[in-house]
Amino acid sequence: MTDPIDRSGLRERYWETQRPDRMTQKEWEALCDGCGKCCLNKLEDEDSGEVALTRVACRLLDDESCKCSQYPIRHQFVPECIVLSPKNLDQHAYWMPQTCAYRLIWEGKPLYEWHPLITGDPESVHRAGVSMRGRTVPEFEVHEDEWENHIIEEPI
Ligand code: SF4
Ligand code: SF4
Repeated sequence: MTDPIDRSGLRERYWETQRPDRMTQKEWEALCDGCGKCCLNKLEDEDSGEVALTRVACRLLDDESCKCSQYPIRHQFVPECIVLSPKNLDQHAYWMPQTCAYRLIWEGKPLYEWHPLITGDPESVHRAGVSMRGRTVPEFEVHEDEWENHIIEEPI
């Protein structure tokens, strides 16, 4: 299957040697494994700061491809959707999914063996069972008060 993210011509295992702020934009974008988990609604405990992911997905997530269905114009519909960059990674990494490559790099951990950068295959994240393909419920079907009934255990 064609990789929706262009991972051609990247420096070999650059994520092990380059700091995020020294990566090219293409290298930065290629860190995404395509799991779709950052597009899930989260619950954050105000006292402990703990974050739980729910399977209640953002209205724009296509749970088959695990991609945003309106990425270029998403802020028209979801103004709060963040644009993750090396500059704001410190601020956001704590709530990113435990398997997310951006969070792993921020924590100084290696990428998982199923990451498309390692396998060369965008389907490997789905085969490994760590993506949200076919696992979400749309947010318009679940009231916010019921999100806690849809918490998922990480890592998945
Ligand atoms: S959680 Fe991380 S790796 Fe997964 S889709 Fe979001 S940015 Fe990409
Ligand atoms: S707007 Fe798109 S990128 Fe942002 S959380 Fe929703 S599905 Fe994900």
